[in-house]
Amino acid sequence: MEGDIKKDLIKLYREEFGRIPDIVTSAPGRINLIGEHTDYNQGYVLPVAIDRRTFTAAGKRGGELFIAFSKELGKKTSFEILQGKFEHTNFWVNYIKGACNLLSAQGKIEGTNFAIGSTVPRGSGLSSSAAYVVSIIEAVAHLYGVDLKDIEIPVLAQRIENEFIGVQSGIMDPFVAKFAREGSAILIDTKTLEYRYIPIPEGCSILVCVTGVKRAIATTEYNKRRQECQEAVACLSSILKKEVTSLRDVSIDELRNVEREMDHVLHLRALHVVTENDRVVKTSAALLNGDKEFVGDMMLESHMSLCSNFQVSGPELNAYVDIAESLDGVYGSRMTGAGFGGSAICLVDSKAEDELAKKIEREYKSRGYENGCVFIARTGSGSRVERN
Ligand code: ADP
Ligand code: MG
Repeated sequence: MEGDIKKDLIKLYREEFGRIPDIVTSAPGRINLIGEHTDYNQGYVLPVAIDRRTFTAAGKRGGELFIAFSKELGKKTSFEILQGKFEHTNFWVNYIKGACNLLSAQGKIEGTNFAIGSTVPRGSGLSSSAAYVVSIIEAVAHLYGVDLKDIEIPVLAQRIENEFIGVQSGIMDPFVAKFAREGSAILIDTKTLEYRYIPIPEGCSILVCVTGVKRAIATTEYNKRRQECQEAVACLSSILKKEVTSLRDVSIDELRNVEREMDHVLHLRALHVVTENDRVVKTSAALLNGDKEFVGDMMLESHMSLCSNFQVSGPELNAYVDIAESLDGVYGSRMTGAGFGGSAICLVDSKAEDELAKKIEREYKSRGYENGCVFIARTGSGSRVERN
């Protein structure tokens, strides 16, 4: 499927711009196995890239003009780099503007043609935005010989989402889009950016259960949770009489001991983050031991904590988890991504993957959620130059 996408994109580029692209790059979407809402709290995450990618075909055109075409959106637009203002009508082009703007601080970037094609579902919690922006950064950097260290790519991608898109997203999504390896999850310590590949055990598969909804409150609530976590840090600093710079600095015992002294909501938020970090570490160890049942238990615990402590789930995500947990062959399931719609994931016995994917989708739809779909995700690899 990805080979076809690449070919189609090159053809499309040729039709749009009258020549072949100078470079084609790609980057994957992802699921997060466990470690939700921990990346902006300097905690641990355990994402896996999936075999759905976003491709960028690009070529120099010289001068000041940039032209971009998105195959999926069916839209073409142009801009001049120095104009670099936020555009509301062509929201999607802000990612490209952001990349060109930030990279022009490190090298001369001239007018460029872009064509983008993707198999990552957009706005489904599978991080199409990081796949997109990382593939753009790779394309522009290679095209103009901007010398970036690998680690600078996700850092730049995060800045683009934060400064040009206005989403206060963390480092996890662009990090996995850059560094993922087939067959493995990546355990990332978002405090130090140290990371380690954790192989996914043989015989299990990942199902992605797309809810088909993106709630309007998602961004507001996401920003609110970040704020609440900061307030919890300030509160814990003063109660524990020690320096707490993030929720990473607090243990489960410390938190349990101060429950009565803290605002109830802030305590719940902190409880999720602190216990979730612990679950990520335990899940990584269980994966290394091939203990899929335990991994599944951790996934369900994570989901429950996201429902009741962090309060970012929703009826559609809960429906998927409820359906999956009742079926033989499912090790575990949980929401993935920021929540309020998006997608859930299931870790299942590979022998039953097809049957389970069909069953879960059928049951979800029969509960009245018409726009859902379930697909089997193979693991993917990080961003790369496909052709230059
Ligand atoms: P998610 O990252 O969970 O898929 P986001 O809202 O963060 O959801 O990102 C989706 C946005 O990213 C889209 O609205 C669009 O602006 C941009 N985007 C992603 N993929 C593409 C694409 N193939 N072409 C153009 N824009 C894209
Ligand atoms: Mg995103």
